[in-house]
Amino acid sequence: MTVLTKQYIDGAFVESHGREVMNIISPTRGTAIGRVTLADEEDTRRAIAAARRAFATYGRSTKEERLEILRRLHAAASARVDDLTAAMVEEYGGVVQFAGLIVQSGIAAFQAAEQALLEMPLTRSWGKTTVTLEPVGVAGLITAWNANTLFICLKLASAVAAGCTVVIKPSELSALQTQVLTEALHEAKLPKGLLNVVTGRGDVVGAELVRNPGVDKISFTGSVGVGKSIMRDGAATMKRVTLELGGKSPTIVLDDADLGHAIPAALVLAFMNSGQACAAGTRLLVPRKQLEAAKRAITEATQGITVGDPADPKIAVGPMVSQKQYDRVQAYIRKGIEEGAELLVGGEGRPQGLDAGYFVKPTVFVNVTNDMTIAREEIFGPVLSVITYDSEEEAIRIANDSNYGLHAAVLGTDVRRARHVASQLRAGRVVINGMTDDPQAPWGGFKYSGVGREYGRYGIEAFLETRAILEAS
Ligand code: NAD
Repeated sequence: MTVLTKQYIDGAFVESHGREVMNIISPTRGTAIGRVTLADEEDTRRAIAAARRAFATYGRSTKEERLEILRRLHAAASARVDDLTAAMVEEYGGVVQFAGLIVQSGIAAFQAAEQALLEMPLTRSWGKTTVTLEPVGVAGLITAWNANTLFICLKLASAVAAGCTVVIKPSELSALQTQVLTEALHEAKLPKGLLNVVTGRGDVVGAELVRNPGVDKISFTGSVGVGKSIMRDGAATMKRVTLELGGKSPTIVLDDADLGHAIPAALVLAFMNSGQACAAGTRLLVPRKQLEAAKRAITEATQGITVGDPADPKIAVGPMVSQKQYDRVQAYIRKGIEEGAELLVGGEGRPQGLDAGYFVKPTVFVNVTNDMTIAREEIFGPVLSVITYDSEEEAIRIANDSNYGLHAAVLGTDVRRARHVASQLRAGRVVINGMTDDPQAPWGGFKYSGVGREYGRYGIEAFLETRAILEAS
């Protein structure tokens, strides 16, 4: 039983002023594995004050000093890869094969920011005008529970590269993972107050960060509902905001696709991170004339998708993070059935033999129409909706007929044609022929999927203000 009672403020682990204690529940077993004392508004204000003091100096740091800080952060986090992965498996229930990748891509964000910063001109001048890119100030970084290390490292790397100091508010469901990460980052021996971490409730710690005039910028990853409230409440103190929100991402299988390749690739997109992924390709668009073949390929491919103990490297889908998330996924599966979609694979209830923990059955619905709830709302679990189309134009129209626009995929044999389709999709990222990543490519959403971009230079730009100095004579 791990007991966490401290926050990380001004370069040290200090006892929490907040008194509320929360149990940390294993999603795999459904039992308590730890306790955390949550931060309150006072802890948050202390962290903001520390970040403000540190900004007075760090805000004037040189590019070389920031590059050095990024290198130290990278080395410090790299030293704890295995511990960070183990914590993600234990506390979140992330399957180890994916958790390792998530942790590594989080750590790689420090290197990616270093490279991007090296290549970014922070000063431009012509005639008697000089334009400089200045750090926006103190940044509040508020993150979700489904990839804790990745979100924290990514936002921290961009903020630090820009010359900002930070107060991080991780999800209260990620206290153990955050503890391991904070201990790791402490070893980077950063200037005091540059990095502060307060773990507490969103409506307590998160809300204080959003309303406090000492915070200049909020970078948020989470749900649309909370994203809207941050935009609204942040307006009172003119906060700059970056919002990384939800998705209902389409995967278009073109009619020249080889289903033997396309369907397994589509299922990886749908079920990655046990379906608890903002980018999950949860709407699968297949040509109507190939529906029967696609159904056979899906049924066959899903037999290889194993559900169970996330620590087992053979397991592809782990438990949902919490009872609440389990209930949410079950409710959507029921809704799909009620609305007349046809259940091809999975369904309600727990998979056989997995009676403890928050396991759900990877589920595929066919005969889904794009107006059904399961095609419109983000489920955030391993539930895939198969929708048919008659023409390429219709596929594009259906793909774009969503409030969301975070991610999309196009699968087909003729790559030029796939690129042409990709260029018409209203999404921040489109992958062709399978899931892939590039730490310098922007990440973020059109429409309700968010505001702004992260990753590489795009992520750093989100923490910068532009200043022009003009000389009259
Ligand atoms: P959430 O919105 O409930 O919580 C996200 C964070 O916001 C948590 O730290 C939470 O404590 C905090 N929060 C809650 N209320 C707040 C308030 N009033 N003020 C300030 N902060 C508050 O989301 P979640 O359940 O943790 O995560 C799932 C959601 O995150 C999904 O919608 C998913 O799509 C989205 N997500 C998006 C991305 C992306 O990059 N676009 C990545 C992962 C997850």
